Amino acid sequence: MLAKYDGTWMIDIKSFAESEGLQTNWQPVEKHFTAKNEKLECSFVLGFPYIFANGKATTLDQPTRLEDGKIWTSAEATLSIFEVALAKKYAPDTLKKTIKDVTPKEAQINRPAPPKKEPAGTREVQTIIIDPGHGGKDPGASGKVSQEKEIVLAVAKKLKKELSEEGFNVKLTRDKDVFIELSERPNLANQWDGDLFISLHCNAVDGVERQKRTEGYRFYVLRDPENEEDKAIARRENKVITLYGDKDSKDEISPLEWFKIEARLEKYKQNSYKFTEQLLIHFDNGKIKKLGSGAGGAGFMVLVGAFMPAVLVELGFISNPEDEKYMNTEKGQEDLAARISQSVQDYKKAVEEYRKTLQHEK
Ligand SMILES: [Zn+2]
Repeated sequence: MLAKYDGTWMIDIKSFAESEGLQTNWQPVEKHFTAKNEKLECSFVLGFPYIFANGKATTLDQPTRLEDGKIWTSAEATLSIFEVALAKKYAPDTLKKTIKDVTPKEAQINRPAPPKKEPAGTREVQTIIIDPGHGGKDPGASGKVSQEKEIVLAVAKKLKKELSEEGFNVKLTRDKDVFIELSERPNLANQWDGDLFISLHCNAVDGVERQKRTEGYRFYVLRDPENEEDKAIARRENKVITLYGDKDSKDEISPLEWFKIEARLEKYKQNSYKFTEQLLIHFDNGKIKKLGSGAGGAGFMVLVGAFMPAVLVELGFISNPEDEKYMNTEKGQEDLAARISQSVQDYKKAVEEYRKTLQHEK
């Protein structure tokens, strides 16, 4: 039931789960394996170093793999999750016994060389993708005198100018009032081989009283939402998909999709946070206030699919009279663009510092 790959003990998860009395299901097209009983529900996706168990994703030291018609997952992490969920101890002796079951042939199976590992987040920050949200038939949120799509385009153009002057290679997903599908935006970013993806938006709430009270900027990374407010904001930003065309899409990300996204985006998470930290520093003490802690996470479809650090910036509330007024002035837009530009420059420095420390360690 166990075999060793790249120095890691892997377990034949299907046989193991079945020996523990779990129901198993393997979907070869989706490359997705699940096992469940009343105490534990876990799933694995081939090629991803994650186990998703009882609603929580845990990193494995090896991606799950298919060899010899069997699905192999990192034994140590898998067993410890089963131990907790099933309130059971797998003694080393038991393990050793199962190790003996592995025939030498089974343990040395042809497999492709592991991909070359470039330390995450060490790439030089050169190409910046600015994504002005919405556009064309999708106006985004509306204020008293303006629409979200106009404000974010104006700020994006100013930001492009600032960053270009600083020597960055800058691309806009749209530079005029046109509609672009949410999923197309990260695709463009990938095509352009971006190092950082910044999606610009304006926030909004309903109700006259709430509109007066609710103001401020907030930055988002793609991660499980921690509160209902952030979830609602993501739903609003995702809504365009259901309004226009694509009938199969939905405004929330399912647990399985989360699992796949998290596995894929793990690489970029640290740098998305690093950039968010810079935004928090440079937006401090501006005309627009901070909403809550200033940073959060939720399932923004527009960030899904970008193979680079990605942050969604809610510049302020278009539904708030003060915020809307400021975001519509030339001065306000310049100020917001300058703050993001400063954040990008300091983020670039932070990444360079990190590269240097890694070189010293070599
Ligand atoms: Zn928006």
